Amino acid sequence: MLDSDSGDAAIIDANLEPSAVIEVARENQAKVRAIILTHTDLDHIAGLVDLLDAFGPVQVAVHGAERDVLTSGRPLRREFAVGHPKVDQVLDLVEGEPFRAGTLEFEVLHTPGHSPGGVSLRIGDLVFTGDALFAGSIGRSDFSNSNPDELLEAIKGKLLTLPGGIVVYSGHGPATTIEQERRTNPFLG
Ligand SMILES: [Zn+2]
Repeated sequence: MLDSDSGDAAIIDANLEPSAVIEVARENQAKVRAIILTHTDLDHIAGLVDLLDAFGPVQVAVHGAERDVLTSGRPLRREFAVGHPKVDQVLDLVEGEPFRAGTLEFEVLHTPGHSPGGVSLRIGDLVFTGDALFAGSIGRSDFSNSNPDELLEAIKGKLLTLPGGIVVYSGHGPATTIEQERRTNPFLG
C-alpha cells in the first residue's frame, strides 16, 4: 500500500515472493514504513527476513494473539511444525486503534477464526482481509487453532457490514468488493 503523495508505504504480509515485493517498492521509490501481518501462517511471514534485509529495521506489526509466533519462532500450526522466521521487535495491532505507517493510517479489524490473531486492515475504500474473506470463498477453519463460528461471525459482523463499494484484497486470489461477496459468496448465505 503506497501513499503516492508522501511516498510512504506499508507492506501487507511477507509472502513467499519477497523479491517481487522489493522490486515493486523500489520501482515506486516507496519509503517502506511498516510490514503489517494479517496473521502468521508461514505463507504470510516467510518473506519477513528478506524484507527486513531490504528495507532495514522497519516496524513489524501483528495481532497480540500471534505475537509470540514471531518473537519465539513458534509455529502457528501444530499441523505444520516447520521453522518460522524470528523477529524481536513487534508492534501490536489492536482492534479499534488505528495503526499508522508514516502518512498511512489503517483501521484494524480483528477477524479471527482462520487463526486466533487474524486481522483485516481497512484504509480508505480498500480492505485487506488476509485469509478471512476471499472472492467467492472464506478461509480454512479446520486447523486445531481455528474456529469456524468465530470466522463467520467476524466476516458477517465486521466485513460484510462495510460499505458495499469497498474493494477487498484478500491473501489469495482476485480482488472483489464487499457488495459482491454479500450477494454471491456461497459460504455466507
Ligand atoms: Zn492463513
